[in-house]
Amino acid sequence: MPAPCSCMSFNPETRRLSIGLDNGTISEFILSEDYNKMTPVKNYQAHQSRVTMILFVLELEWVLSTGQDKQFAWHCSESGQRLGGYRTSAVASGLQFDVETRHVFIGDQSGQVTILKLEQDNCTLVTTFRGHTGGVTALCWDPVQRVLFSGSSDHSVIMWDIGGRKGTAIELQGHNDKVQALSYAQHTRQLISCGGDGGIVVWNMDVERQETPEWLDSDSCQKCDQPFFWNFKQMWDSKKIGLRQHHCRKCGKAVCGKCSSKRSSIPLMGFEFEVRVCDSCHEAITDEERAPTATFHDSKHNIVHVHFDATRGWLLTSGTDKVIKVGCHLSEAFLLWPYVNVQEPRTG
Ligand SMILES: [Zn+2]
Ligand SMILES: [Zn+2]
Repeated sequence: MPAPCSCMSFNPETRRLSIGLDNGTISEFILSEDYNKMTPVKNYQAHQSRVTMILFVLELEWVLSTGQDKQFAWHCSESGQRLGGYRTSAVASGLQFDVETRHVFIGDQSGQVTILKLEQDNCTLVTTFRGHTGGVTALCWDPVQRVLFSGSSDHSVIMWDIGGRKGTAIELQGHNDKVQALSYAQHTRQLISCGGDGGIVVWNMDVERQETPEWLDSDSCQKCDQPFFWNFKQMWDSKKIGLRQHHCRKCGKAVCGKCSSKRSSIPLMGFEFEVRVCDSCHEAITDEERAPTATFHDSKHNIVHVHFDATRGWLLTSGTDKVIKVGCHLSEAFLLWPYVNVQEPRTG
């Protein structure tokens, strides 16, 4: 190769392998039936600098790509011609496509997700949205439920209900580190998210989760009425010391520390870890509501890429420790073992 490889996409039906390079080129090969030979087909001068992601769309014969040059581009895989491009606000780090409606989803390092509608040779901006406090690190699209998952360096995954058209976004909190890779198994409805600390969370997406409430504003605790520290008038009138404001994650009320001293997990709101709740919400949460809706596993390496083959139950991870691990899903647990040592960790 004329430059180091940065990403790739393989289409099993056509045995087409598209490889992105550090110099902005995408090189395409066709693999022989016995996988013993690869024939160069063509090169696309797709980007000014490193290609960060490639997606081959067989149905439309399109090659979608993003680059370090903050460009999204798409090419015709038959003619090799560039069909169009779009400049994103930051370097893209997640790319998904819905074949049916021709919408492309681009997540970027600023935390924004952009939706574009692609035509044969032009595109229109549909919308942009932002829900993470850190950059988007991975995107996953479920074309059946019409749901987009975004993973972020802010440790969370957000499930965006695009098909529901009500703007529902549900946060999934199950990692103690950056979420770096996502994989979705359509027919088992399992979302797999992998963290920088090696944590793998398998989310049961059959569970109906609720959105977290908006945090309410108040100048005094909505439980015991003690003033918060900026409420000088009430502090003076009642000769009380101002308190710090906290919020109950379940009801969203503004409460003082004393009225929210207990913690609870709220899996049906996406909180698999214990979070602050007010005393009355703590009493109201039942043990059934506390039952986890995800399983937790430790891969023992910093995962940069994950692939889940749901039909066989196989999971493949690659990490910055230069190890690829393969494993299988056995009775609620992943058994992972190192497969091979590679020279350079890559994200594809
Ligand atoms: Zn209080
Ligand atoms: Zn509450």
